[in-house]
Amino acid sequence: MDSNHTCDVCYKVLLLGESGVGKTAMIRSIIGLQFDPESVPTIGIDFARKTFEVDGAKVKFEIWDTAGQERFRTITRFQFRGTKGVLLMYDVTNKKSFSKLKYWLDCVDQELDQQNKEPVPVFIIGNKCDLDEQRQVTAEMGEKMAESSYVHGFMETSARDNTNVQQAFHQLAEAMTEINHPKLL
Ligand code: GDP
Repeated sequence: MDSNHTCDVCYKVLLLGESGVGKTAMIRSIIGLQFDPESVPTIGIDFARKTFEVDGAKVKFEIWDTAGQERFRTITRFQFRGTKGVLLMYDVTNKKSFSKLKYWLDCVDQELDQQNKEPVPVFIIGNKCDLDEQRQVTAEMGEKMAESSYVHGFMETSARDNTNVQQAFHQLAEAMTEINHPKLL
């Protein structure tokens, strides 16, 4: 995990999506831990810190995952409180996890957009793109979903291979800074 050195801003980031899409793996990847193929969906790190540099400004993330609670639809208002950015994840090999994006977008609408004066950037992330042969969701489907939901962006990632993981968090850092602290940029 990152050391707690001086930062210009600190944002809470929430990873959302169905159980098993790779939220824990994504957190492990961004903080430099090895991919764990044995990881069980319900058990996960639920908090990590990471600092990014955006145009010379140090932006610290406090990253939360829902640690299995999404299975019971018991994500609480408390978990959403203070969230400044969301990575909304699905698994490209699991169409059901893709079809649940609407449910999660509604949660974000209800819980976050009402709590915040500023818009909360959401990026849709299609994870497990290393498993191309098992794909049930194409990149075009992900792009279309992002366009029609008016989210900030879309990206495919592999937490196993570290593909686009840095880029996904970095784009979110840029969007959050632009919205919340534009003078830093
Ligand atoms: P969570 O429930 O959303 O936190 O999902 P996990 O991070 O626990 O991942 C669920 C399963 O998918 C685990 O067996 C992981 O090893 C696997 N997994 C996660 N990300 C990837 C990925 O990018 N590629 C592959 N091949 N497997 C992944």
